[in-house]
Amino acid sequence: MLSLVRLLAPLLCLGLLASANVQADTLSRIGVLAFRGDDDARKRWTPTANYLSAKTPGVKFVVEPLNLDEIGVAVAERKVDFVLTNTGNYVDLESRYGISRIATLKNLRQGQGYTQFGAVIFTRADHPSVKTLADIKGLRFAAVSREAFGGFQMAWREMLEHNINPFSDLADLRFLGFPQDNIVYAVLTGEVDAGTVRTDTMERMQQEGKIDLAEFRILNRKSTEGFPFVHSTRLYPEWPFSKARHTPEALAEHVAVALLNLPGQSDVARSAKSVGWTIPLDYGSVHNMFKALKIGPYEYLDHVTLARLWAEYRDWILLLTGTALLLMLAITWVLRANRRMAISEQNLREEVRQRENAQRQLAAHRDSLEQRVAERTKELEQVNMALEQDITARRRAEEALRRSDKTLRALHDITVSTADFDFKVTELLNLGCRHFNLEIGALVQVEGQSCTVLEVNLPTDAYRKGDRLSVEDTFCAMVLGSGEPITVPDIEMSKYKSHPVFRELGQHAYLGVPVLVDKQPYGTLNFSSAEARTEPFPQVDIDILLLLAQWIGGEIERIHAHERLQNHQIQMSRVARHNTMGEMASGIAHELNQPLTAIINYSRGCLRRLRNSGREREDLVVAIEKVSSEAERAGQIIKRLREFVTLGELRQENTSVEDILSTVSELAAPELRQYNVRLKIDPTLNTPQVKVDRIQIEQVLLNLLRNAIDAVQANLFNQRDVNVRVTYDEKYVFIKVQDNGPGIDQERLGQVFDPFFTTKPDGMGLGLAISRSVVEAHRGKLSAQSASGKGTVFECKLPIRPVAEHREMGSRIVQAALGT
Ligand code: ADP
Repeated sequence: MLSLVRLLAPLLCLGLLASANVQADTLSRIGVLAFRGDDDARKRWTPTANYLSAKTPGVKFVVEPLNLDEIGVAVAERKVDFVLTNTGNYVDLESRYGISRIATLKNLRQGQGYTQFGAVIFTRADHPSVKTLADIKGLRFAAVSREAFGGFQMAWREMLEHNINPFSDLADLRFLGFPQDNIVYAVLTGEVDAGTVRTDTMERMQQEGKIDLAEFRILNRKSTEGFPFVHSTRLYPEWPFSKARHTPEALAEHVAVALLNLPGQSDVARSAKSVGWTIPLDYGSVHNMFKALKIGPYEYLDHVTLARLWAEYRDWILLLTGTALLLMLAITWVLRANRRMAISEQNLREEVRQRENAQRQLAAHRDSLEQRVAERTKELEQVNMALEQDITARRRAEEALRRSDKTLRALHDITVSTADFDFKVTELLNLGCRHFNLEIGALVQVEGQSCTVLEVNLPTDAYRKGDRLSVEDTFCAMVLGSGEPITVPDIEMSKYKSHPVFRELGQHAYLGVPVLVDKQPYGTLNFSSAEARTEPFPQVDIDILLLLAQWIGGEIERIHAHERLQNHQIQMSRVARHNTMGEMASGIAHELNQPLTAIINYSRGCLRRLRNSGREREDLVVAIEKVSSEAERAGQIIKRLREFVTLGELRQENTSVEDILSTVSELAAPELRQYNVRLKIDPTLNTPQVKVDRIQIEQVLLNLLRNAIDAVQANLFNQRDVNVRVTYDEKYVFIKVQDNGPGIDQERLGQVFDPFFTTKPDGMGLGLAISRSVVEAHRGKLSAQSASGKGTVFECKLPIRPVAEHREMGSRIVQAALGT
C-alpha cells in the first residue's frame, strides 16, 4: 500500500497544483449514511471532512448525515458531491445515479483493518433441531432490516442457495433494527430460533463480556484466509468513498489521493473506526448478490414490466425481434424449400420409378425386338422371294396386258370395219388364234345333237365351213351346259383325257365359251391346239374370249333383228299393196257397177220393146240378149275379182299395243330423223292386249304417223311434235295420234276418209280410207278431230274383245271401203 502511495506521489503534486484553480470557500458536501443516528455520523466522519478540507485548499468539505431514503434523493438532486455509505447502498446508487467509488474503507476491527466483511448466521448452541442452515425452515428468524446489507441481505442470499425463501419458508421473520446486539440477545433468549448479524459483531460482544460465543452454533460456517471472524456468508468489500456524477474529476482525484494518504494510525482514521483507505475494490460480487436477490438496482427482475423491458433492452429487443423475424423468414424459407424439395424428391422418386419401369420395359422390349428382328429378317427373306415371284408374275401380267391391249385394238378395228359379218368372224378367229397361241379357232352353231361349223380357222382342211359334227365329238354341249368359259391347258392331264377331242382329234389345249343370241344358247366359240400348255390361261385371256363371244352373239342378234324387220316390212308392203289393190278394185267395181247395170237395164228394155212391138228381129234379139248376158257376165267377173282381192285372210293374234307401237316407231324412225320430228309415245301401264291382225293395225298406225310427220313439216320454226297416247276402258283401247301441224279445216275434215281424197301432190288419197276400213273390220272406229292451226288428233278405237270371224271381218272391210 505504501509503495502505491509512493508511486502516486508525483500525481498528488499535480493534483495539488490543479487544486490551486479551485475557488476558495467552495462547499463540498459529503452525504453520509447515518445508520446509528446523525450525531454518531457527524462524530465519526467530520474529522475526515476536515482532513480533506485541510488537504484541499479553497474547498470546504462538510458531512451531511442522511438515512437510506434521503441519501438517494440527495444524490438524485445533486445535493451532495461525495457519498459515504454502506456497500449495498453504494451499489444501488451506482446503478441508479452513476456514483463511482474512489476508495474503499479499511475498517478497524479487533485492532486490525479489514477491507472485506460478511455476515454470520447462528442459533443457540443447544437448539434442539437446528443443526444446519436448512434446518431453519419453518422456524423463527431475526435480522436487522430488509435493507440491511450485512444485517440481512447477505444471509438471505445464502438461504436462497439452500432453497429457503425467508419470506415464505420461515415461521417468523423479525427485523429488530440496530444495534445488532438485539438479534444476538433474541437468539440467546430463545425469542427466535436463529438470527444473522454482520461479522465481528459477536466477537465484539464477547469481548465486551455480553455473550459467550460458545453458547452459539454458527450455521453454514465458512473460513476465509486472513479473515479471523466467524462468518456464514461469502465476504464483500467494505464501505466505499464515492463521488457523484457531477463532481469534477480533478476534485475527485484530489480527494482520492488525500484519502489514500490518510495515515492509518491518525486520529482522523481512528474516529472513523478505520485504519485509513485503500484503492477502490471490485463491487461485482455485490452486484451478483443483488441480482440473485432481485433487489436494489435488480429489483425490476422481480417486477418485470414491458415498458421497463423496452426502455432497458430496446436495442436488444429490436435486435432479437429482427433476428427472430429473420429466423422465422429463414425457417419459413427453409420449410418451403423443404416442402419444395420434398415434392421434387417425391417427383424425382416417381420419375426414378417410372424410369426403372421404362428401363425394365425397354429391356423386355429389346429382347422381344431382337426376336422380332430375327423373325422379321426371315419374313423379309420370304417376302423378297415372294416379291421376286411377284415381279416375275407382274412382268408376265404386264406382258399379257400388252398383248391383250394389242388384241383389243385389233378387235376394235375388225368390229368397226365395213366388212361383212362372215369376214369379220374369220378375222376374229384369226386374232383369237394369235392371241391365245392356239392354232384352231371355230364358231359352231349347236342345234340339238348336231353342231354346224359356221366359221373355222384351221391350218389344214380337216373341217370346213358348213361341216356338221355330232355334239358328242366336241366340247360344245359341255360348254353350253356350264354356261361359262371352259379352259383346259392340257386335256391329257385332265379328267377329259378319254374325250374324243383328245383321243381322236389329238387336241391338248382347249378354250371354249358359249355364244348367246337373244339370251338363248346359240353355239360356241372355241380355240384349241395339239400343243399342251404348261400354264393355265390367265384371266385376261378368258375376258377376251368372253368379249369375242359377246360381240359375235350381239352381231348375230342384230342380223336376226334386221332380217325380222325386213320380213316385216316386206309383209307390210305386201299387205299395203294388197289393201290398195283391193281398195282400187272395190273403187273400180263401184264405178263400173253403174254403167254395167245401165247396159243390162237398157238391153233388157230393148228386148222388152222388141218383143212387145211384134216386129221381132230375131237377129237383134239374139244380139241384144248377148249384150245383156255379156254385161251380166262382166258384172259377175268384177264381183268375183272384188271378192278375190278383199276376202284375204285376217290373222288375228293376241298382241300388246306397246309391241305394235314399238314396231311402228322403229319403222318410222328414218323419216322422224330425216324431218327432225320429236315422237313421244305415252302408253298407259297394264294396257290389256288386243286380239287383232297385227300387220293390219301396224299399217293403220304407221299410216297415221306418216300423215302426222307430213303435216308437221309445215312447222318451219316451231318444234315438230307427234304424241301417241294410249288409254283404255272396260271395252276399248284408244290410241291417239296427235300432231302440232296446221290442222284440217271443218269442210275438208269430212272428206279425209273418202277414197282418192288427197291434198298431197304425190298422194293417192287411199291411206285413211283403207285405215278406217281396217279398223272398222276389227269392230273399232277411226275418227279425226282438228282445228285449223292447232294440229290434228286421229283416234283409233279398238275393242279388247276378239273379233269372232275373220271372214265376217273381211266382208266388212270391203263393205266399209265400198260404202255398200
Ligand atoms: P294421202 O296421204 O295419199 O293424201 P290419205 O287418205 O292418207 O291419202 O289422206 C287424205 C288427205 O287427208 C291428205 O291428202 C291430207 O290432205 C289429209 N290429212 C290426213 N292426215 C292429215 C293430218 N294429220 N293433218 C292434216 N291433213 C291430213
